[in-house]
Order: sequence, then structure tokens, then C-alpha cells
Amino acid sequence: MDRIFSGIQPTGDLHIGNWLGAVRNWVTLQDQFASIFCIVDLHAVTLPYEVSSLAARTRDMAIGLLAAGIDPERAILFVQSAVPEHAELEWLFTTVAPLGELERMTQFKDKTEKLESVPAGLLCYPILQAADILLYRANKVPVGEDQVQHLELTREIARRWNTAYAPEAAYFPEPQALLTPASRIKGLDGKAKMSKSLGNTIGLLESPEAIWEKLRPAATDPARVTRKDPGTPELCNIYALHQYFSPPETVSEVADKCRTAGWGCLDCKRRLADAMIGTLAPIRARATELKRAPDAVDAALAQGAERARSIARETLHEAKRRMGFFGAV
Ligand code: ATP
Ligand code: MG
Repeated sequence: MDRIFSGIQPTGDLHIGNWLGAVRNWVTLQDQFASIFCIVDLHAVTLPYEVSSLAARTRDMAIGLLAAGIDPERAILFVQSAVPEHAELEWLFTTVAPLGELERMTQFKDKTEKLESVPAGLLCYPILQAADILLYRANKVPVGEDQVQHLELTREIARRWNTAYAPEAAYFPEPQALLTPASRIKGLDGKAKMSKSLGNTIGLLESPEAIWEKLRPAATDPARVTRKDPGTPELCNIYALHQYFSPPETVSEVADKCRTAGWGCLDCKRRLADAMIGTLAPIRARATELKRAPDAVDAALAQGAERARSIARETLHEAKRRMGFFGAV
């Protein structure tokens, strides 16, 4: 059976972009593939972060994923730092990872733009990501579009390592991205990608009131200055979101009322808020239950880490054996 691996950083609240672009897909795929999902806390410390809340954010992320439908009986769900083999394989991969390509990664360039001093961890981020995936020899990776470039680099690292240490066997697979039609959800600013770190998100577990408060000022087609100005739905992020939350009749109605200025943007947003609140209600209810049982969540993560580690240990040993390390040969 093909194996899938994917990760999410505990850098903030799980949002609808993460859900539409990746997590909802994980929930479906866990029935079709041997699935491994990881809360990548080692990645989350590559930018300045709040030390005192990292552990709580990690558990909250687990709660969000479990509430969204990740089933720890079917999939392995664990926290990256609980499996030290990730960092060790990363080190081995630094010896074959091409520096020039690391420096050319869009995410690296974006994240370092405002930094005075660039930590090497940010540069090595995609090497750790390659280790995350290849430690489980996963051949498919369900992610959003922003990760496609990193995955290309993962394939490059696998190829280079295989050429050096496993020329006849291609020990590491060259994993492919699995994208959804919602692979790049825009933030409420209507411009940048929705990102935990940009504060332009709607959280998956947000209250109905908070969803409305966030949607109300959200960007729409700039041509609709007053209620009477007609708009172009295809240019409006609110219309884009309707397509993921509203039934087809509503989507057509929204397009029509926008083009003809039949209603104002606020009416359109109210419809979206209602559809979103309805869609997310069961996830929110499950999260409320899980928050009451943090010990059960921690136990599920511990069991996930055990299962992940038994695979990780084997792969790392084989990688070290092929690299000729004392104790592994
Ligand atoms: P950060 O701002 O800390 O990088 P993020 O919101 O980008 O957070 P990640 O943890 O980096 O979230 O990514 C988790 C998964 O969600 C990845 O598969 C990523 O491709 C996907 N993803 C992130 N943002 C979006 C988005 N706006 N649309 C679709 N998928 C997304
Ligand atoms: Mg990100």
C-alpha cells in the first residue's frame, strides 16, 4: 500500500485554508493509504515564537486535527519532536542538499525578508521536511500549493542520496504532491495566502460570532465601492470561499447578485458566514469534547509517536548502514 505523510506547524490556530488545502484531504486519504500525520514543532521554532505556549499550541493543533476527523486508529498522528530520528536524518541529508536551491526557495526568501539575521534553521527547513517524509519512505504528500517547491527539493535530495548511497536500489522514493482544488486559499485581506503567521485567517474552531466579526470587514472585489456598483465574482475572495462552503444554488445566486448589484457585499458575506458556521459546527462540537479530555489527546499522540518511531528507527538504521556508519554496518 502506498504511504502518505504530511505535516502541519503548531504556529497558530488551524484555519480554513489548512483545512480546505490539506487537512480535509488527509481525512479522506486515511481510508485509502497508510497515513502518517505529524505536528511539526521542530519546524515551528525556526522563526521567533512564544516559548511558554508552544506545548499548548501543539496539543491544540492535535485537538483540531482529531476534531476534523483524523482517526488515530486508522492514521498515525504524532508530534515531530517526540521522534528524534527526524533531526538525525535531516543531518545526514544536509550532506547532499544543494545550498543554491535552498537559498532559492520562495518560502525562505519570504520569511527572511524582514530578518536582520537569518538563522540557518530557516535555510535548512526544507531539508528537515525531506527527512520528515523520507523517514517513512512516503511516496505521496497531501499538501497545499505552497509546498510544491519544497517537495521538488525533497525529490532532489532523495535522488542525490540514492545516487551516492543506494545506486542500485533507489532506497528513498521520490514523493509526489497530492493537491486539492482548494490548494491556495487567500486570506481575509484578499491578497496574501491565508497563513497562521499572517493573522488573515478564519480558525476552524472559531465561534459563530467570531466568524462573522472576521468576515464582515474582509476584502471583496474593489470595484464594489457602493452597494449600487456591480462586481465580478471571479475577482472576489468571498465568492471563492462560497464555492467551498455553500450549496451550488447559493453559489449561482451569489454570482448573479454580485454581477447585477442585486445585493451588497454584506448580504453576500452573511450568507457565507451562515454556510461556514453550519459546515464547521460538527468539528467545533468534537473539539469542545476533546478539550475536556486532554489526557486522552496526549495518550493518542504518545501512541502515535511509538508507532512512527518504530518505522523511523528502521529507516534511519538502513540509511546509516548504507552510509557506512560504525554500529550500523
Ligand atoms: P505558517 O504561517 O506558520 O507557515 P500555514 O498556515 O502556512 O502556517 P503550515 O503549517 O505551514 O500552515 O501548512 C500546513 C498545511 O496547510 C500545508 O500542507 C500547507 O500547504 C497547507 N496550507 C497552508 N496555507 C494554505 C492555504 N492558504 N491554502 C491551502 N493550503 C494551505
Ligand atoms: Mg506555511
